[in-house]
Amino acid sequence: MTFISEEQQLMINIAKEFAVNEVRPRVKEVDSTDQRPQDLVDRVAELGLRGIMISEEWGGLGAGLTTQVMIVEEMAKEGYISGSLINNMMALPLLKVGTQQQKEKYLEKLAAGEYYMGFAFTEASAGSDASNIQTTAVKDGDEWILNGTKIFISIIHSDAFLVSARTNETHPGGISAFIVEKDYPGFSTGGHYKKIGLHGSDTGELYLKNCRVPAENMMGKENKGLNVVFTALDVGRMNIAAIALGMAQGAFDRATAYAQQRIQFGRPISQFQAIQHYAADMLAQIEVSRAMIYKTAQMYDSGESIARDSAICKLYATEMACRVTDRAIQICGGYGLTEDGEIERYFRDARVLPIVEGTSEIQKMIIARTIFPKK
Ligand SMILES: Cc1cc2nc3c(=O)[nH]c(=O)nc-3n(C[C@H](O)[C@H](O)[C@H](O)COP(=O)(O)OP(=O)(O)OC[C@H]3O[C@@H](n4cnc5c(N)ncnc54)[C@H](O)[C@@H]3O)c2cc1C
Repeated sequence: MTFISEEQQLMINIAKEFAVNEVRPRVKEVDSTDQRPQDLVDRVAELGLRGIMISEEWGGLGAGLTTQVMIVEEMAKEGYISGSLINNMMALPLLKVGTQQQKEKYLEKLAAGEYYMGFAFTEASAGSDASNIQTTAVKDGDEWILNGTKIFISIIHSDAFLVSARTNETHPGGISAFIVEKDYPGFSTGGHYKKIGLHGSDTGELYLKNCRVPAENMMGKENKGLNVVFTALDVGRMNIAAIALGMAQGAFDRATAYAQQRIQFGRPISQFQAIQHYAADMLAQIEVSRAMIYKTAQMYDSGESIARDSAICKLYATEMACRVTDRAIQICGGYGLTEDGEIERYFRDARVLPIVEGTSEIQKMIIARTIFPKK
């Protein structure tokens, strides 16, 4: 690729070596135990990959989204858990809308991998409709008192979360965002969702019972909390798209290697036109996704808005990963369905991607709004 520098290539190579040599041997164990592999997360920090897009001022690498998606893609070739290890989604809202005090308190620790911050917006009544939350925040002196329950929260053992809460019943929107640390009184977590895939991501629930949060922990403006998470969403969608791309490539590589050594009717199944057509179709979809993802990441790095294009990337790449991993199983026959074949894990993990961080239907809604803007 001519458009990436030697420095970018070096970072990608470091990520690739780590994924192949250190993550690959552990993937099966993480999938079966469903435990977050903290030692691997710590290694990612040691390699400097927790702060790819965090500026050097705060101890990050100061690289752009193009570098980030390429690294995520490379790592996700070994599967979802590998691709997700560098996710540091809350760093961007902090950089963009955090106060100086919040940046000083959290950013360096996030970049160093000493601290983990998740986000907690989803509730029983508020999935795709993030505005329909029941969690409330009431001001009490220089603190806010939060009450409510968040569900489907990733990396539930994080040190802190960006939490949405209703701060005004009458104000349109009326939602604010707060950094809530796990040690605050009234904060607890629980539950553990057994999911089809994305094992090792510790998805659970977060409970706030008269949880007292210092007023300085509000991120962004009062009653404008949804805007805070929207600042992270474009990059979040690109990360998921890059994970989908890497996983599709990983499943493709494994399935086509298998097709060349599996003999039926006296020859490798790769010599049958049906299998060749599957492979050609898979590769075409992977390359289309890659081109779109790289183009959109470059747009972001040159300061352009990617609201529409990141939705296209997320929609196309995640649906593509479902199709490609499904075909990969078909190519591998019965072997593709077994744990040893690995492909079934790619298939299970891929199925979750069109749902997390905005479903495919919501991506279509975002794209459609740019085609038919409200008059
Ligand atoms: C593994 C995992 C990890 C997650 N991690 C987090 C996290 O860390 N933090 C967090 O806050 N949330 C998290 N989520 C929640 C995730 O963001 C939601 O699951 C997602 O936004 C969809 O919400 P829902 O599941 O309630 O589905 P619903 O909103 O109930 O949607 C159900 C179906 O209806 C469709 N639908 C809904 N509204 C419309 C519409 N207007 N037009 C057309 N179709 C529509 C949806 O597309 C979907 O097909 C996670 C979810 C999962 C599965």
